[in-house]
Amino acid sequence: MRLRFRVRGIVQGVGFRPAVYGLATEARLGGFVLNDADGVLIEVEGPPERVAGFAAALEAGPPPLAVVESIETVEVPSEGATTFEIRKSKGGATLRSPISPDVATCDACLAELSDPSDRRFGYAFTNCTNCGPRFTITSGIPYDRPNTTMAGFAMCLRCRGEYEDPADRRFHAQPIACPECGPALRLVGRDGAELEGDPLTAAAALISAGRIVAVKGLGGYHLACDASSEAAVAELRRRKGREEKPLAVMVEDVDRAQEVVVVDADSLEVLASRRRPIVLLPRRSGARIAPSVAPGNRFLGTMLPYTPLHHLLLRAVGRPVVLTSGNLSDEPIAYRDADALASLGGIADAFLIHDRPIHARCDDSVVRVVDGREYPIRRSRGYAPEPLLIEPALPRPIVAAGAELKNTFCVAKGNRAFVSHHIGDLETWESMTAFLDGIEHFKKIFDVAPALVAHDLHPEYLSTKWAVALDGVEKIGVQHHHAHIASCLADNGRTERVIGLALDGTGFGDDGSLWGCEVLACDARSYTRHLHLQPVPLPGGAAAVREPWRMAAVYLDAAFGAAGIPDLDVVRDAGDAWEAVLQMARRGLNAPLSSGAGRLFDAAAAVCGLRFRVSYEGQAAAEFEQHADPRADLVYPCPIEGDEIVGSALIGAVADDVARGRSLPEVAAGFHNGLAAALVVACEEVREREGLKTVALSGGTWQNLLLMERVRAGLGARGFEVLVHHRVPANDGGISLGQVMVAGARSKN
Ligand code: ZN
Ligand code: ZN
Ligand code: FE
Repeated sequence: MRLRFRVRGIVQGVGFRPAVYGLATEARLGGFVLNDADGVLIEVEGPPERVAGFAAALEAGPPPLAVVESIETVEVPSEGATTFEIRKSKGGATLRSPISPDVATCDACLAELSDPSDRRFGYAFTNCTNCGPRFTITSGIPYDRPNTTMAGFAMCLRCRGEYEDPADRRFHAQPIACPECGPALRLVGRDGAELEGDPLTAAAALISAGRIVAVKGLGGYHLACDASSEAAVAELRRRKGREEKPLAVMVEDVDRAQEVVVVDADSLEVLASRRRPIVLLPRRSGARIAPSVAPGNRFLGTMLPYTPLHHLLLRAVGRPVVLTSGNLSDEPIAYRDADALASLGGIADAFLIHDRPIHARCDDSVVRVVDGREYPIRRSRGYAPEPLLIEPALPRPIVAAGAELKNTFCVAKGNRAFVSHHIGDLETWESMTAFLDGIEHFKKIFDVAPALVAHDLHPEYLSTKWAVALDGVEKIGVQHHHAHIASCLADNGRTERVIGLALDGTGFGDDGSLWGCEVLACDARSYTRHLHLQPVPLPGGAAAVREPWRMAAVYLDAAFGAAGIPDLDVVRDAGDAWEAVLQMARRGLNAPLSSGAGRLFDAAAAVCGLRFRVSYEGQAAAEFEQHADPRADLVYPCPIEGDEIVGSALIGAVADDVARGRSLPEVAAGFHNGLAAALVVACEEVREREGLKTVALSGGTWQNLLLMERVRAGLGARGFEVLVHHRVPANDGGISLGQVMVAGARSKN
């Protein structure tokens, strides 16, 4: 009996063929296995009961990294085969097999790394079929060595032996390498000249001595320094021009992590998972982490080593190391050697580099853990480009351009959506290039020829401009907050009409004004805007985002009128500018109307005297949340008038209490509780109008876990089901998925 199996899913580059070989030879069957453009093709031949046993084993035990979507089985004529072989991959015109994300070093490789008798002892590029680089080194498919950045390294005899030995852990491991034949480390100075000594030891010594070292990692360059040294971290911030954004820290292992942050069982699983994201965890008081690492933040972005290079480096330094993207503020992470030397030369004292090129730039992923599940902030390395399964299947292939900030794009067809790695803010030439190159790369490696392009309604987004300039495809504009909620629905595998609470900084409304605190009723196809935050002017437009005191001015003006504003620091600090900004707002000069939740938080933080100015978007809101006392049950009133949530009432209450001297933790809690209560009432209103009982939470404001917890509790108590994100971020990083869903639902055929 001879059976043919067609296996689809993430089945290439994950040790599938060796596993099949093992099963087939164990059962003494003839036949072959090969990778092709559709996935894995297997034929086995032998006595029917042994063939059946093989089929059962194939279903039951795929290799750990494989994601099997389907196995089709057909009987084919016997050919009399008695031996089993792994055949060469077939190249071809239709290439469809997903490329796996990069995988953290496995335990077996880690053991070899630490074993002085092993030939890969201390070798920074050790990997096997169960671990190592994938997406970041892949230039085409099928996933085979010539289509990776390992193409230039000829295997030595021993590596070749392992690669060809079906019994070996490295059987057909495409990035296989050893000290004899693989990539090598070098340590160079700013001028590119090689520094003396063992590169890794010397780099560790520099870091220990308080210097800054650029380290070429998996998806790009990082900047590394001693996380316990205030001088080193402050110097890194100064040189990088990154004033206050929190920096991430890498620690050697789980025990070291426990010394600096509180790691519960659920967080531990995520932290130590093969995806190895940065996990935002509560910082331990007294932890030996320099204050400048994450100023004003009770959380610390923490990650474990995910390549042998990082394991070795952390071991050699023996302390937590700041590991932040190698870039100047607001530019994408550098990933090409020449660019890195040029752009980081003014920041790094030395460069720890190697000769394995990075094909795809890929930032570290960032997650929080909420109720035992991942809650993504940035979905990138270790996750992208794993496809998200979506329902219903798309009628036509789609590319979605995403938003402007925290951009991701998405190519999709059938039941699969390939949301890209984090592209970043589309304001530099580098990120725009990453966006354009990335879309072409994804179209090629996932064989998607889009018939439809989905984009935001904001005419000034560069992603929108790119989309509308395309020829020969249908274009569908998708309202920003509709995309947010559609993204949350797809994230949860849901398709029905729900209530959507879309809260963020800003998004282009279909009336041309700026929206950002929207109570919608929607499914993927259409939406109704039921309620929203009462709009206020944004005096100075973008300047109002950088200077939260301007939002305080317009909200206090709305709450009290010109005369009655209480005596507050923020008014005094603004001086004459206060009146000028109010004039601008009242006359509507350079003051577009906005109903953004982010600006309401900015106003509250400024009224409390917490932030007069910010150095990155969302900073005031993030700090305000951290100051709130989660046990305080104070609730400020926030009425709903008609279809408008009156945010100025909330700010008025905050101002009164600040003027009376109530403590910041209580005031911040009263604000969060008041807004949450108003949102719950708004959902009840929509339930009455439309009979909907499920609420989806999406938009960047939902990175505020206190608000989320309050809203979930309030909705839960009133019988609502609440959907939150688990697979893509609530922020604009999830927009491209939502755009795909909306375009798919609206597409005519
Ligand atoms: Zn391994
Ligand atoms: Zn070798
Ligand atoms: Fe948004």
